[in-house]
Amino acid sequence: MTKGPLTLRELDAISVDRLNGVGPHRRKALAEVGVESVFDLLTYYPRRYVDRTAQAPISEAAVGSEITVVAEVHAVSSRRLRGGRRLVSVDVADATGVLSAVFFNQAWRERQLTEGRTVALFGKVENYRGRKQMTNPVVDVLGDGSTSDRTGKIVAIYAQSETAGIVTWDVANWVAEAQRRCSARGIADPLPDWLRSQLDVIDRATALADIHGPSSVSDQAAARDRLVFDELLRVQLVLRSQRLAREAHELGIAHDPVGALIEGFHRLLPYELTSAQRRAMADIDADVSTVRPMHRLLQGDVGSGKTLVALHALLVAVQNRHQGALMAPTEVLAEQHFIALRALLDGFEVPDEERLGGTRPLRLRLLSGSSSAAQRREVLVEIATGAADIVVGTHALLEESVKFGSLSVVVVDEQHRFGVSQRAQLREGGRDDRRIPHLLVMTATPIPRTAAMTVYGDLDVSVLDELPPGRTPIATQWVRGPLAVESMWSDVRNEVESGRQAYVVCPLITESESLDARSAERVHTELVAGSLAGLRVGLLHGRMPPADKERAMARFRAGELDALVATTVIEVGIDVPNATVMVVLSADRFGIAQLHQLRGRVGRGSDASSCYLVSDDDPTPTAVERLTALSDSNDGFELAERDLELRGEGTLFDERQSGRSDLKLASLARDLAWVQAARDAAIDLIAADGDLDAHPALADEIDWFASRRDPDYLQRS
Ligand code: ADP
Ligand code: MG
Repeated sequence: MTKGPLTLRELDAISVDRLNGVGPHRRKALAEVGVESVFDLLTYYPRRYVDRTAQAPISEAAVGSEITVVAEVHAVSSRRLRGGRRLVSVDVADATGVLSAVFFNQAWRERQLTEGRTVALFGKVENYRGRKQMTNPVVDVLGDGSTSDRTGKIVAIYAQSETAGIVTWDVANWVAEAQRRCSARGIADPLPDWLRSQLDVIDRATALADIHGPSSVSDQAAARDRLVFDELLRVQLVLRSQRLAREAHELGIAHDPVGALIEGFHRLLPYELTSAQRRAMADIDADVSTVRPMHRLLQGDVGSGKTLVALHALLVAVQNRHQGALMAPTEVLAEQHFIALRALLDGFEVPDEERLGGTRPLRLRLLSGSSSAAQRREVLVEIATGAADIVVGTHALLEESVKFGSLSVVVVDEQHRFGVSQRAQLREGGRDDRRIPHLLVMTATPIPRTAAMTVYGDLDVSVLDELPPGRTPIATQWVRGPLAVESMWSDVRNEVESGRQAYVVCPLITESESLDARSAERVHTELVAGSLAGLRVGLLHGRMPPADKERAMARFRAGELDALVATTVIEVGIDVPNATVMVVLSADRFGIAQLHQLRGRVGRGSDASSCYLVSDDDPTPTAVERLTALSDSNDGFELAERDLELRGEGTLFDERQSGRSDLKLASLARDLAWVQAARDAAIDLIAADGDLDAHPALADEIDWFASRRDPDYLQRS
């Protein structure tokens, strides 16, 4: 029986130890870098390439030029310099001459550059005592002398694993052998011809060959395009079919979004909505007025006014005599949301079902882990009977014991800390009539568009791309050194003396709340005795009893405190327009998104605000990049793009760093056009019922792909 070309599923079923040279020992080593099957090996893509078509013989390497030479290591030596630095010198030679390379403080080069190895060195040619030399050149080890000659080609360089003992030329040899073994049957291409020609991409077999051994830079680019598209298409197909399946099976509750209650609420607002807020509310109204459950992401920069939009959605539920729930990722945040909603709903009356024509205050409840058993029981009863109109809480709302009378709208804040399975649980929770609540997911972390399309590809998106009017941009300064810090504290005093308020955020030491709390207490004590002596300085951290937390916040809000020393508990949700100064201590330890969130606690009124990012004396280069990015930009979306560039793709998804990643080649920062193309193609390929019946090869590939995936993989943890 002859078999057709190999599919990815088949390639994934062939263990790498079927290849020559891969015994039990190598097999284990490869497994450590995530390569178990021939599929894994063929998609163990080169890190980069050495273009040997552009190399120069040593004799022609002119002093002052930047070039690549490929040569053999002849001698290696190492010595300690004055001051303790180590110098490794290496002599290399090709048929035309010799060159030396020197490395400062890279003692490990001695082990890497052993005699007889063929290496590519890229760097600037210098003249040192009449000899050609490179200082700290870029090094690629191409082989150990026994490897076949690859002169005049583009040589792939693979990620090596020192611990596992995997070197790049081993990988190259195994890949070459795998390709040879596949050549009899060939590698199948599941893309229909029309799509391939529409996208102008090459076939899969060629792409897999050329990514490992391109004969030109343009071949490599064409191969990469095709493989990037494949990766993104698989993700989009899964998301799209999940979404269509959900739409076909899930039944929600249709609401009337127009009514006296909503009108009353809008009349009560002290300001005009921004047009972005109005658009988002209209999107929500359209969603919740059908029986197809809403599944929407509300994305908006800090301060863009997401709370009001969320409240609107919750009130539509109440207007239709159902219940709304707002879920936050932490207790502190849940409390803050509760306080914010309570303030917005102060004096707000809703129709009283018990007295025709009468009204009663809206019943907003907090289900908190810190409430007493009796309070909790009482709230649970109100939730179950439907007496509670809007309930705020953490994922405790998902617990078995929480049964809603009629939950119809759920808002989840800061969704990236919730997983897919929790989302599903939430949709299933509290529906005694088998109806699924409408879901609005709010994220204060701006997600670059490409990432949103991939990570949240199964959600509709509303974006608040506009800040309420009258905001002045926050002046951000990076503060380093004791003098600058002293002058910063005197600026803070000046602001406070003119009636404004300040936040001081303490370093995040560990993931441990109790250590953070202690550090906040220490900073508080020091500031009260020193730089902020004589001012009214409060303290807020996650370890304080809830009543104390609420009191500290209430005093700050009321202007009874000049400054609030806090841990990152204030990251999201706190809203005190009179606070105009944000000081972040050890800012170099925070990520871009977190700093942007913290900064967003000021600049909420019309007065000019400032943010001081105090760094340790010697921040790492990436910390410098982060602090510079923050100082340069107030735009959350721009910062998110920058963050993505600095951090790479890995962190976008959950923290499962070790497992198999779906995007090995595609870059959400670079490949926007391909993300879009994959999304469009997925829409074209999948029929309205979510089936891929017309494309059995693709259907099989997606089936295989989905089965090897962690169900929560698309969620950030
Ligand atoms: P987010 O949650 O998106 O960071 P908030 O919902 O906390 O932002 O709103 C930020 C601030 O802007 C709050 O003080 C809120 O009262 C105010 N605000 C919201 N919408 C408007 C608007 N349309 N006009 C003026 N101020 C607004
Ligand atoms: Mg908010």
